[in-house]
Amino acid sequence: MAAGGTMKKRRAVWAGERAGIPIAGGRLIDLHAHLWAGREELDARLMLEEAEILGAEYIAISHLWGYNPSPDQVHQGNDHVARWVKQSGGRFRGQAILNPRHGKRALAELRRCYEELGMRMVKLWVAARCTNPIVFPIVERCIDLRLPILQHAFCKATGNLSNESLPEDVAELALRYPQARFVMAHVAGDYIRGAWAIRRAPNVWADISGTYCEAGMVETAVRELGASRVIFGSDNGIAFNLGKVQDARISDADKARIFYRNAKELLP
Ligand SMILES: [Zn+2]
Repeated sequence: MAAGGTMKKRRAVWAGERAGIPIAGGRLIDLHAHLWAGREELDARLMLEEAEILGAEYIAISHLWGYNPSPDQVHQGNDHVARWVKQSGGRFRGQAILNPRHGKRALAELRRCYEELGMRMVKLWVAARCTNPIVFPIVERCIDLRLPILQHAFCKATGNLSNESLPEDVAELALRYPQARFVMAHVAGDYIRGAWAIRRAPNVWADISGTYCEAGMVETAVRELGASRVIFGSDNGIAFNLGKVQDARISDADKARIFYRNAKELLP
């Protein structure tokens, strides 16, 4: 909108154009990235620098410690994220990492992340398979608070971790809770199976992060889900992932949706 031009000028300009990296629509949000335990500052600084060079509006970050972090580790991790969000001048948005195995403590941590740390999205990784009933109270609270959930899913050729969700699990959970909104990470790695699995669950979006740049991934996701359900995520490293969307055989309008608008609607 022209009226908002002055206010949003800095963000509306895709600085990557100058570096010879054009993208459709010229606006970018990265909805999937992490501060890893023990290297939070390095991760944060690298991502801030990249966001600045390219002109990304924001990167959504969550903390990862181990597969089954303790309550203390979760608490500290979310604090790390909150600290960097504060320091980032709007370049970072925080996603609350939760461990469903912590029961009521997980809900208390969610409340803390929402009320005290201002987080507006939740990340669930591999502590519990997402069809495990211990996950349900978190989903129900997220519905109440209107928070989208970034749910990890992968189909590993070498075999999944024991509590790692498959795309069919994400679909099952989403169909159980039609009012919840989920982003399934990585299009589940095996993007054909991943996109197929969540087709019938309209409350699941798919992010394209965390895989090699593979021709066909974005086209398949768009064909099966529609461009409005595909989201740009990098899993740390925006430039490496841009080509997946920019070079996909889809319209510029669809690319622009994936680079920016879909994420903006989920996490304004
Ligand atoms: Zn990730």
